[in-house]
Amino acid sequence: MSRITLLAGGVGGAKFALGLRAHLRAADPAAELTIVVNTGDDLWLTGLRVCPDLDSVMYALAGVNDLERGWGRADESERVSAELTAYGVGWPWFTLGDLDLGTHIARTSLLRDGLPLSEATARLASRWDLGARLLPATDHEVPTLVEVPLEGGDDPHATEFLHFEEWWVRYRAGRPARAFLQQGMASSVPAPGVLEAIEEADVVLVAPSNPVVSIGTILGIPGIADAVRRTTAPVVGLSPIIGGAALRGMADVCLTAIGVETSALAVAEYYGLRAADGLLDGWLVDTADVDAVDCLSALGFDVIARPLRFTSVEETAAIAADALSLAQARRGLGTVPPVE
Ligand code: GDP
Ligand code: CA
Repeated sequence: MSRITLLAGGVGGAKFALGLRAHLRAADPAAELTIVVNTGDDLWLTGLRVCPDLDSVMYALAGVNDLERGWGRADESERVSAELTAYGVGWPWFTLGDLDLGTHIARTSLLRDGLPLSEATARLASRWDLGARLLPATDHEVPTLVEVPLEGGDDPHATEFLHFEEWWVRYRAGRPARAFLQQGMASSVPAPGVLEAIEEADVVLVAPSNPVVSIGTILGIPGIADAVRRTTAPVVGLSPIIGGAALRGMADVCLTAIGVETSALAVAEYYGLRAADGLLDGWLVDTADVDAVDCLSALGFDVIARPLRFTSVEETAAIAADALSLAQARRGLGTVPPVE
């Protein structure tokens, strides 16, 4: 039996998780999949706790996500949201569908009953056949804030802080980010089970999620990056950057803001090599970035190039299989898949 732990954000994480689950169901049905999900995007809105990344992963694995929009529930309506807007409550630019609101109400109800987010998440997840255990990275509130220049003031150096979702959804990441910070991060602790899931895993995978505000937030919670450095499991990541651009989403803006080039190579270097106190042993790049393979191999990474655009669950499952083979080869089990 193998224990596989995936670190994931929302949409990129969910797409990969679907393929990984499909592969495991076919090739290793006894495998235990744990997904540690980013909670930096979580927020209180209209009195409800909204957890965008946990919900993206849960909806995708439950098969009830909206494939066209890429987020939220399929067959969604927005009657409640229209009422909230009529009352002037909530963010009119942040759509909360009716079915989606059902999730947020249920979660908030469980939280108000005194359950930590990890238990509330387990309760919500138990409704579906997810084939994976979902763990929020932390039970603490660690909202990602984005520092942007203050608009309309006299002082050109004055800044303000926006919640990440306001910066992302309302301003489409268009206001220049000076910095990202996770409020409350320093005093947060990993949710129960997170460190064990990393330390006791046979393989740790890092999804092709936003390296700064999804994976970066997970790794920033005290103890998690250390667990990734310490685990005896090989750690293999997949590049969210293909041919110098982010697919859907604006990870490039986040990378630029922290001074990292938008390339598969630079993101691997940013995560760093575990042998040099970094976080990764292996890295998958897209075939468009095959030029980076030699350079990263010379640095010590195990690297292969694969088409990393997740166009179907079957193709994603094949990529997941290769990511696992790359990891298993590190453990002396099986051989390294061909580089291309
Ligand atoms: P978010 O929380 O919804 O923003 O999603 P994540 O943090 O999980 O992932 C966002 C990242 O996923 C973006 O940087 C995209 O480049 C990446 N992404 C989305 N779709 C794909 C895909 O099909 N393949 C790869 N390799 N990356 C993807
Ligand atoms: Ca997110």
